[in-house]
Amino acid sequence: MKKPEWHLRAGEDREVFATLLVKIYQALKPAVNIYDGILAMEGQGPGKSGVPREVGVIVGSGNAMAADRVISEMLGVGPDMVLTNRTALEQGAETGEIRIDGDLPRVENFRFPEMAPMAFGPKIVHGFMRRHLVQRPECDNSECRLCGECWEYCPAKAITHDKKIHFNYDKCIRCYCCIEVCPHAALRAVETMTGKVARKVLKIK
Ligand code: SF4
Ligand code: SF4
Repeated sequence: MKKPEWHLRAGEDREVFATLLVKIYQALKPAVNIYDGILAMEGQGPGKSGVPREVGVIVGSGNAMAADRVISEMLGVGPDMVLTNRTALEQGAETGEIRIDGDLPRVENFRFPEMAPMAFGPKIVHGFMRRHLVQRPECDNSECRLCGECWEYCPAKAITHDKKIHFNYDKCIRCYCCIEVCPHAALRAVETMTGKVARKVLKIK
C-alpha cells in the first residue's frame, strides 16, 4: 500500500499514524538508515513550500530509533517531544546504548512546522474540526502548470481541475501529499482563520 493510502486510513490521528510508522519500521528492520541533512528543510514543508537550510550533516545508523533521538537533540528538541520517538519507546523499540562516531553539530534556531490542531474531543466532531481548524492545501494558480501530479497522488480524490485546480475540503484529509509531490511549488498549507484562533486559545506553537 502506498503512503497516501496509509494517510487515508490513519492520517487524521497523529498517534495512530506514528504507531503505524513505528510498526512498519519494526516489520522491515532496515539494516542501515541514512539521513541526508546536507541541505535540510525547515519551516512549513513538505516539498518546496519549506525553506532549504544548509546543515551539512549525513547521519548513518543501524538503528533508526537511535538516530532519530540523536537528530532530535541536534536540532534542539528533547527526543521525547517527537511523537514517533515516544511511540517507539512505548512500542518496545530498542535503541541500545547510543554511541556517536564523528562530529554532530548543534543546530541553533531550527524552525519546525507549526502544529495545527488535528482532532480532539468526541469523534463525532472530528470531521468538523478537520474542515475548520486544520491547515488546508491551497494553490497559487500563477505557479500551477496543471501537470496532474497532485490529483493523481491525492488519496482522498479531493482535487479536481478545469482551467485550474479545485479542492474539495470536505473530502480532503489534510495529508499534504499533494504539496509534497507538486514539482512547481504551487501548493502550500494555509491556516484557516478558526485554526489560528484555536491555536492561540489552546496555546499550540
Ligand atoms: S502538482 Fe502542482 S503544478 Fe501540478 S497540477 Fe498540482 S498544483 Fe498544479
Ligand atoms: S488534497 Fe492534498 S492534503 Fe487533501 S487529501 Fe488530497 S493530497 Fe491530501
